[in-house]
Amino acid sequence: MVADLERSILQRLDAVDLRYTTGRRAIVDGLRKANGPVTLPELLQLVPDLAQSSAYRNLALMEEAGVVRRLVHSNDHARYELAEALTEHHHHLICDSCGIVRDVQFDARLERTLDKAFDEAAASEGFTIARHVIDLFGTCADCAG
Ligand SMILES: [Zn+2]
Ligand SMILES: [Zn+2]
Repeated sequence: MVADLERSILQRLDAVDLRYTTGRRAIVDGLRKANGPVTLPELLQLVPDLAQSSAYRNLALMEEAGVVRRLVHSNDHARYELAEALTEHHHHLICDSCGIVRDVQFDARLERTLDKAFDEAAASEGFTIARHVIDLFGTCADCAG
């Protein structure tokens, strides 16, 4: 599984002539370790020996390479996670109050129901849906408590 991930990342970086440097590897490790999408300061906490300047640049390069996905939900810091093509299809729970973002998976039946409904909704436009992105906003348990 990890070997597959490594191979996919290498392929993507290679396609845009980027090397899988120690710094980029450290970012991927940090994102894998993270409990959901993280801000750059959070990533730097997870990977203390990461230099902020190069981390920011490497995140942008890896976003272009399709390895990293950048999420912007509010005027909060952008958050980063590994691209969905490298991990698993999922959605996000976003707290309007503190801005925390958690990954959440819908069960397979709900995903099928959604895809069918989206196909029907888009059919009148002659539009073919390739994927969907759904984020859910509300209040996290900490902020609700
Ligand atoms: Zn919250
Ligand atoms: Zn979905």
